Formats: sequence, structure tokens, C-alpha cells
Amino acid sequence: MRIGLGYDSHRFNGSKGGVTLGGVTIPHRQGLRGHSDADVLLHAIADALLGAIGAPDLGELFPPSDPAYRGADSRRFVREAYRRVRQAGWGVANLDATVVADSPSLSPHKARMRQIIARLLEVHPSDVSVKAKTTEGLPPGKAGIAAQAVVLLAKRPGTRRPFDSSPGRSRGSRPGFRPPGRPRRIPGPALGAPRRSR
Ligand code: MG
Repeated sequence: MRIGLGYDSHRFNGSKGGVTLGGVTIPHRQGLRGHSDADVLLHAIADALLGAIGAPDLGELFPPSDPAYRGADSRRFVREAYRRVRQAGWGVANLDATVVADSPSLSPHKARMRQIIARLLEVHPSDVSVKAKTTEGLPPGKAGIAAQAVVLLAKRPGTRRPFDSSPGRSRGSRPGFRPPGRPRRIPGPALGAPRRSR
């Protein structure tokens, strides 16, 4: 199993246009500022996927300075992150996300978001949770929208463990790896060890 955490936030841009969250465009009095479509939820999800496999983060893979991603549909970022997850031999067990927004109201759109995210990650919508929170005056407050996502990955059946892929190097030989249940060996006699009888 692997776990990944993602976070993102974007400021409102002060002009009309609606916000895109989880691939759903929602009418709103102002849009979100961003190089891509500013979908904070999908950005958090992409980073959670990338983090779970120890890959470079979203900003490294898709630099905001690159004009190729101007106005990009953020589903593209999730697809690429998920492609890397699959390539590493993992699949998504479940995903849980929270969108922090005072407005717009997300309740009417959460089911659609779950469907879109589930399709991107090849899981059932019941494996995807999208929750909505207001800020109670805390950041980002009226300034924008933030999102957090946590994802759990499980080995796909029939795939080799990622760390077994290089010849002559098993998971057990990874530096620092200790099989579960085997305590760290401390040099010298263990504290409280019974004295050897004479
Ligand atoms: Mg972002």
C-alpha cells in the first residue's frame, strides 16, 4: 500500500466566468486565477497520486511558465499522474478529498465530481469522496478556494512489486527497509535481559 497527500489553492480572479472544480464548471460571480483551468481539486488529486509514488510534483511536471499548459483542462494532469501510478504497478484503492470554499455551494455538484474523478482513476464512484467545507473566516476565506486530497494505492494483481524490478535487488534489501514485526537490533545486551545461569 502507498498513501499520498495533495493540497492546492487558487485566488479568485475578480472577473466572471465560473469555477471548475473536479472537472465540473460551476457558475460563480468570479472565476479562479490560474495558468490552467485552476481546478484546485484536480490539482490536489494529481499531487496526491504523484506523492504516493514518490514522483515529481505537479509544478515540476507541468511548470506554470510553460505556455503549453495555458488554460489546460486539469483532467490532463490527473491522467498523467494516474498513468505514472499504473506504470509503477499500483492502482487506486480509494480517494478522499475536501474542498474549502465559502462559495459557490458545491452540494449540487459533488456527485458529478465523484463520477468524473472515479472515471479518471478507474474506480467506482463509491471509492471517491468529495467533501465541502466553508472557512469560518479562516484562509482562504473570501479570497479563493483550496482543496486537499488523500489517496490510497494498492498493488494491482499480477504486477511485480516496484522495488523488485531491478535485477538482484529485492524489496528486503532496500536500504533502511525492515520487515514488519522485526525490531531494530540494538548493540549490546538487551535491557532487562535475564542473566545467563552459571
Ligand atoms: Mg493549482
